[in-house]
Amino acid sequence: MAKPSLSPSKITTFLACPTKYYWTYVDPRGRYYLRSKHYYSFGTTLHRVLQQFHDAAETGVATVGDAVRAMEENWVSAGYTSAEHMAEAAGEGREIIAKYVQSTLEKPPEGRTIFLERQIHTDLGEFRLIGRVDRVDELPDESWNIIDYKSGRLGVTEEEVAADIAMGCYQLILRRKYPDKKITASVIALRSGESATTSLSEEALNQFEADLILLGAEILNVNWDEHQPTAKSLCHSCDFLPLCRKSPEFELQPSTTDSQ
Ligand code: SF4
Repeated sequence: MAKPSLSPSKITTFLACPTKYYWTYVDPRGRYYLRSKHYYSFGTTLHRVLQQFHDAAETGVATVGDAVRAMEENWVSAGYTSAEHMAEAAGEGREIIAKYVQSTLEKPPEGRTIFLERQIHTDLGEFRLIGRVDRVDELPDESWNIIDYKSGRLGVTEEEVAADIAMGCYQLILRRKYPDKKITASVIALRSGESATTSLSEEALNQFEADLILLGAEILNVNWDEHQPTAKSLCHSCDFLPLCRKSPEFELQPSTTDSQ
């Protein structure tokens, strides 16, 4: 039997709500309740365009005009509530892409891009830790910088990058595979163009790895037959609420907006 795998998305879903993890990854009935989300569609569109822009030699997407056209060609329309909603998002997307491409052309990155949208993984005993990096640049001092684009964020701090589970996972995977490489991690908040960079120390990364192994074991060893959903504020906007409501002890408190 293939070894189970965990990704940053699976881990963050479990931490947000174990039942949500169950409906998303364990019980196939959950998929009938999942609804497309416009913010995921928007993020996917922007990621595709930036991937093409940073691979301009292959794709020909080298100018602001090329990138805006690429956005229109790659537009993912799922999850928007109306044509107006989508048009508004497309306007925002054009603005974000134009600003990003313009500023990158004016001040090109110091390093050279070595990975784009690359799947990476490492073996952590009971499971494989897998992830997909948006981009990795090799800097002039030969260190590697992992770059993650956040399409919904206005700003980002070093503390947020240091605490980001996905960025920790990517650093861990690359450091295990390339132990002699100095590795840093950057998040770019696309809406503002702000970015922050940090690097987990050897000690912090060892601790992160130990915590991840324990958490992974907990996730993979849940006895789902005995598991009961617990109501929380997240439930009000959760696709799986109709499923959790079937559980006899599930009691959802009215949300603050319900009472207004
Ligand atoms: S409805 Fe609530 S308990 Fe059920 S999966 Fe969603 S967040 Fe979790």
